[in-house]
Amino acid sequence: MIDNHIHTKLCKHAEGEIFEYVEKAIDQGIKEVAFTDHIPLPDNFDLAHRMQLDEIDTYARWVVRAKEKYPEITIRYGIEADFYEGFEDFIEKFLNLHDFDIVIMSIHFIRHWPKGNWVFDYHFPDKSKEEIYKDYLSTVIKGIETGLFDVLGHLDMIKSPGDSLIQLVPNEVIQLLQAVKKSDMAIEINTSGYRKKVGEPYPGLDWLPLIRDNSIPVTTGSDAHHPDQVGLQFKPVYHRFKEEGIKKLVFYEKRFKMERTI
Ligand SMILES: [Zn+2]
Ligand SMILES: [Zn+2]
Repeated sequence: MIDNHIHTKLCKHAEGEIFEYVEKAIDQGIKEVAFTDHIPLPDNFDLAHRMQLDEIDTYARWVVRAKEKYPEITIRYGIEADFYEGFEDFIEKFLNLHDFDIVIMSIHFIRHWPKGNWVFDYHFPDKSKEEIYKDYLSTVIKGIETGLFDVLGHLDMIKSPGDSLIQLVPNEVIQLLQAVKKSDMAIEINTSGYRKKVGEPYPGLDWLPLIRDNSIPVTTGSDAHHPDQVGLQFKPVYHRFKEEGIKKLVFYEKRFKMERTI
């Protein structure tokens, strides 16, 4: 099992020491992890949920120390990078400056949305859910097309409980899959949805046949913000991979994609 999406307390909304996350992974038989904490953004944007620019060295040091202390598990150095229109140059420079193994693209804010632009807390009383999902997915596609990122993180995190974007906005889902394929990115099955109201991963497991049929690389991430969340619900998800004929997962080293048979 590979957990390619783990946070640290540097983002101010995660708990525990980096060593506790690693030990939890080892306990569960996870062989490879990547720390992917939230990237700092320009002008202290959303500083409440991410490290400051000058904390990146602390973060890198923590990961190096964990690697030294736990040779029995592969630990990689990554970042969860926001796609936010207007920040592309900053993100590109930042990613070039640091020696990351893996870069996850996430959308937490949408520039042209009102009130703090939060994806998780939108309020559009005059719009249908389909319109909102379409608008969101068109922003995701823009992010993919920048070519800045390796993995598409929690791609349908906008969904309300019970919703499937495949059912509600099928054409946009197809466009998104085509964009992912063209960009050579992987899709993360992010299990953090199991500890939220939706009760299923991002994207939902109904995406697996589409991902498989489009030969899109897959990886797994718990998006742990607490050591206990490392590898959350990986066993049933890996079981589903088997049922759906998904036999390989990808991981990244120095931003190079590699495959692992599961
Ligand atoms: Zn995220
Ligand atoms: Zn995350």
